[in-house]
Amino acid sequence: MNYISTRGQVEPKGFIDTVLMGLGEDGGLMVPETIPSVSAETLNKWKGLEFRELFIEIFSLYANGEIPENDLKELVDASYASFRDPEVTPVRKLNDSLYILELFHGPTFAFKDVALQFMGEFYSYVSKTRGEIIHILGATSGDTGAAAIQGVRGKEGIKICILHPHEKVSKVQELQMTTVNDKNVLNLSVKGNFDDCQRIIKELFSDLSFKGEHHLRAINSINFVRILAQTVYYFYAYFRVSDQLGSDAASKKINVSVPSGNFGNIFSGFLAKKMGLPINKLIIATNENNILERFVQTGEYRPGEFRKTHSPSMDIQVASNFERYLYYLLDEDSAKVSDYMAQLASEGRIFVEGELLERVQSELHALGAKNEQGLELIRKYKSEYDYLLDPHTACGVAAYEAFNEEGEVTAAFATAHPAKFDEAVRLINIVQEFPVQIAELVAKDQFQTVIENDKAEVTRQLEAFFAGDTVSKA
Ligand SMILES: *Cc1c(COP(=O)(O)O)cnc(C)c1O
Repeated sequence: MNYISTRGQVEPKGFIDTVLMGLGEDGGLMVPETIPSVSAETLNKWKGLEFRELFIEIFSLYANGEIPENDLKELVDASYASFRDPEVTPVRKLNDSLYILELFHGPTFAFKDVALQFMGEFYSYVSKTRGEIIHILGATSGDTGAAAIQGVRGKEGIKICILHPHEKVSKVQELQMTTVNDKNVLNLSVKGNFDDCQRIIKELFSDLSFKGEHHLRAINSINFVRILAQTVYYFYAYFRVSDQLGSDAASKKINVSVPSGNFGNIFSGFLAKKMGLPINKLIIATNENNILERFVQTGEYRPGEFRKTHSPSMDIQVASNFERYLYYLLDEDSAKVSDYMAQLASEGRIFVEGELLERVQSELHALGAKNEQGLELIRKYKSEYDYLLDPHTACGVAAYEAFNEEGEVTAAFATAHPAKFDEAVRLINIVQEFPVQIAELVAKDQFQTVIENDKAEVTRQLEAFFAGDTVSKA
């Protein structure tokens, strides 16, 4: 199977080339030419698979045999060996209609580990087998950078440089990134905000000669391999909830509620559903940065004013994966997608109405939880179920409470461990015990280079960091 761009101006590419390209060269996002469909019979076979086995089955439908099965198995085993739970993404039942899919058992305690642990192994494999130099460059508001660095540290043939805003990420996030002392990792702490970091990265990637000369690769969530890795736990969650429902499974519909920012995670769910997984409602949970809620309610997609909330990993105004959804909403018409995106760039908004809006509302549900509501739910679930939600997960639980109806159950996704966002948990006077991996971070040395908010300075740092790298093919 080949991959094409939502804007239609990229020659069809194979799987590995698609991953290496990241953002489509025409500015669009890469999608499979056709989405593979999974029959009821196959679903039935997949029910009994472990997470890793399921990963291999799903991945094989998309990777054109470009990675031999034995190699793929090694990559998957290596990727999930670092997870603290043998199930990788276990499901916990809280009550008769609410299940929690725990996505935080990876090295950095947030869901991004699920895709980025694999991505690190994958890039390393491509470096070895194709002789590609892989220089990863990214900007982070916290979780992505930490997970990407953990996915790549110490691996041969790859280097990674992550920009984060100086003293503007949470303490745990900062420590997770900067206590890593591997030679292939460079942390640049930029005296500016996340948007400054993002702007510098975008400019460097759009300088195609600099990008080519330095073999720059992206890790942000527009990369299709991240989307694909995340579809696995939708299937896994669906099967585990069905198991736990037992004889009730036939009469219950299963929803998912997903704390969302860039629309990457929830798009994986949309893809799983298109493949044939009978998910009932796809529920988008956001915080007060609620561009997606407004889109689903009114049809208007317009970045609003940035709000700082207790769930900072969802403090996002432009949902970069939204274009993939738009592509399917417009029946895969890339000319129309291009028009809409041009309109978004020139007018700062797009608008769908009539039948299109009805279709959006039949496919997606969305709720933007208020800050206070999130804290209230953390308190409530701690006291009623002795289960501590992190502030992102709390938004997902708020959306479950809003949308779960009679005859339905919901798998609410826990996208981070509460210890990672203790600043919010402390506000309601809950004292939590830290996992040892987080507690021991404070005693470690930090390795980072603090720099001015200046693209030329970043360029100098990168040139020195990447100097002299060569790779030979295995
Ligand atoms: C990144 C992140 C999200 C948002 O995920 P998207 O794929 O960007 O929608 C939600 N929760 C946590 C904890 C995150 O780190």
